[in-house]
Amino acid sequence: MKIKTGIGIDVHPLAEGKALWLGGIKIAHEKGCVAHSDGDVLVHAICDALLGAAGLNDIGSYFPDTDPAYKGIDSKILLRRTMDMVEKQGYAIGNIDCVVCLQRPKIKMHVLDMRECLSGILDMDIADLTIKATTTEHLGFEGREEGISAYASVLIFKL
Ligand code: MG
Repeated sequence: MKIKTGIGIDVHPLAEGKALWLGGIKIAHEKGCVAHSDGDVLVHAICDALLGAAGLNDIGSYFPDTDPAYKGIDSKILLRRTMDMVEKQGYAIGNIDCVVCLQRPKIKMHVLDMRECLSGILDMDIADLTIKATTTEHLGFEGREEGISAYASVLIFKL
């Protein structure tokens, strides 16, 4: 069996009046992420981790933020397309573990919905997709509520 791991990180600024998409779901909040796509940092971090593990470069090389085709796109579509590329290389997912860093809003009550959503898109066991959230204790851009960062680690394997 061949086993590979990947890591992905993404950051987007927050602005008032934008929709907050995180982990594939829309969360009620007065701010949302500014981005060319829907700004789902968590999904973008997972895409980059998957691509890295499969040796397929990064999200920007497939879905550039200069391409009008991806303006406002639902990041779940990008996630599925990413998984299609990973599967084409003959790999399946072992597990995905993620961390989202943000001061507000509290997302703990949304984590199960996110895991259900994303594991469904990736056609994997929900038990193998975990999402943690942390504040940064008011430190840094996340702590000042200027932006959100997300980190993802994945393991993929081929029999
Ligand atoms: Mg992004």
